[in-house]
Amino acid sequence: MAVIDYMMPGMDGFELAEAIKKDPHLAGVTMIMLTSVGQRGHAARCQELGFSAYLLKPINSQELLDTISAALLETTPGYTRQGILTRHSIRESKHRFKILLAEDNPVNQRLAVRMLQKMGHIVSVAHNGRQALQAVEDEQFDLVLMDIQMPELDGLESTAAIREKEKPSGRHIPIIAMTAHAMTGDRERFLQAGMDGYVSKPINVNELSETIMHLMMNG
Ligand code: MN
Repeated sequence: MAVIDYMMPGMDGFELAEAIKKDPHLAGVTMIMLTSVGQRGHAARCQELGFSAYLLKPINSQELLDTISAALLETTPGYTRQGILTRHSIRESKHRFKILLAEDNPVNQRLAVRMLQKMGHIVSVAHNGRQALQAVEDEQFDLVLMDIQMPELDGLESTAAIREKEKPSGRHIPIIAMTAHAMTGDRERFLQAGMDGYVSKPINVNELSETIMHLMMNG
């Protein structure tokens, strides 16, 4: 990654970016523009030159960190960029998460994927508990949406296995249970199994969104 100032002697930030993009060894570098002069057309020019972000100085360390995270997120396979990152879009992107959906029913899968993507999240799908287990080992997710009834390994068994694997590291990935047949005491059973929240099926978009935000904002 290159964090590039605009005003520099000899070669300005735009010229540097052009040179970087022309060099085959550097062309894949993620570039962030930092400038103290906000001029008309600069953001558009930055986008043309392949910058991931355009930020006006002064910025604080948290903003820089958030920008770097957001820019790196764009390098995730399958991610489609929605314009250049700015202070405004980064503030919004703090509510965007990488979510693993573990669901065996294709209809529910499509429905949930569409809902989550509409909320701005990045979604990967596991078709059963075993795949879910593999996925959280291979990749880092912010959250798991876990169907309870699944072949191979069900939601409770998968959650137990994930929690067991997390023990040495002390990590705890939030897991939300999904089930159509919620009975009294189920919620307690899910929480006891190591899950952090619960949504009923058919999934209601507001309930899902609130449960995700509640978990991600309050830990
Ligand atoms: Mn199922």
